[in-house]
Amino acid sequence: PPPGQQRGRPRLLLMGQRRSGKSSISSVVFHKMPPMETLFLESTTKIQKDPIHSFMDFQVWDFPGQLDYLDDTFDFDNIFGELGALIWVIDAQDEILDPLSRLHSTIIALQRSYPMINIEVFIHKVDGLSDEYKLDTMRDIMQRTQDELADAGFDNVQISYHLTSIYDHSIFEAFSKVIQKLLPQLGTLENLLNVLCSNSGIEKAFLFDVLSKIYIATDSSPVDVQSYEICSDFIDVIVDVSEIYGYDRKNPDEAAQPSPPVSPGAAPAENTQEVSSIIKLQNGMVLYLREINKFLALICLMRKESIEKKGLVDYNVQIFQNALQRVFELGGGVRVALAQGPDE
Ligand code: GDP
Repeated sequence: PPPGQQRGRPRLLLMGQRRSGKSSISSVVFHKMPPMETLFLESTTKIQKDPIHSFMDFQVWDFPGQLDYLDDTFDFDNIFGELGALIWVIDAQDEILDPLSRLHSTIIALQRSYPMINIEVFIHKVDGLSDEYKLDTMRDIMQRTQDELADAGFDNVQISYHLTSIYDHSIFEAFSKVIQKLLPQLGTLENLLNVLCSNSGIEKAFLFDVLSKIYIATDSSPVDVQSYEICSDFIDVIVDVSEIYGYDRKNPDEAAQPSPPVSPGAAPAENTQEVSSIIKLQNGMVLYLREINKFLALICLMRKESIEKKGLVDYNVQIFQNALQRVFELGGGVRVALAQGPDE
């Protein structure tokens, strides 16, 4: 079975007031809806269980803003049991006091039975707000939340805050951070990526979930927005091209379902025709993409001198791919030996 499917599936729950942007977020991130089209989305009125065919196979439950889930008759376990992270969406362009008090009562209620759920606050729709206003709003929300929880006797609740918008990459970055925390193999993946980079002259490497364009791991050099954006745009190009020119990748169990919007994911494991692609940029950098498995693609950014030793890069990427396979099979650490280029 694909990674993550035999063990529990990390589940994400998206909550927040009506019109805060929940449906828009799940449509843009998981269903490739252009952000402008969310203007015509109908507001959510019921709990939507939204199965997603991506690496994690997590679910986004789009939760109606007004439902009184703290009511006694509500099936708490059904909603919060097995939840990896609760994502709370607050509309930063709207009044925040009422949404905040709902967030606070939710956190307090969760502390009783589910203190291990990660709480992630998306301060959303920050496009169009000045940097100063964004940060003030964030500080205000953090302070009020901390005070409120301290008054209720909870001093050490870990809460993460993210400034997000569907009109730029911030929503994808925020999801990357949320998902990375739920990955027990993250440390191993980062180590593998570090080793790959240092042995192959790669400056930055991302492991992307192709469907959502969320990166699930990267090497430990700092992420700069531009390289992230260029890698993420590269996926779109490759998906489009391989949909037009690629071979038929449907595997039997997927053929029965409506096909997911992305094809490079679906290569059977024994199929060696993984998509791979190299693009040379005008500034002397090179983008290298290699499909890793059904859901994941490796994207590397390197100088053009590094790709002159393409054989070395290909070889190391192949070893990396095999190692990754084993990480997901064994769930633990694996050792790898990569080839090293001659020292310069
Ligand atoms: P829901 O009721 O929480 O599901 O909210 P919707 O997804 O229906 O969104 C409500 C409105 O907010 C829609 O008109 C969206 O276009 C808009 N919206 C969602 N996300 C953003 C964002 O990041 N920026 C801006 N400016 N508008 C957004």
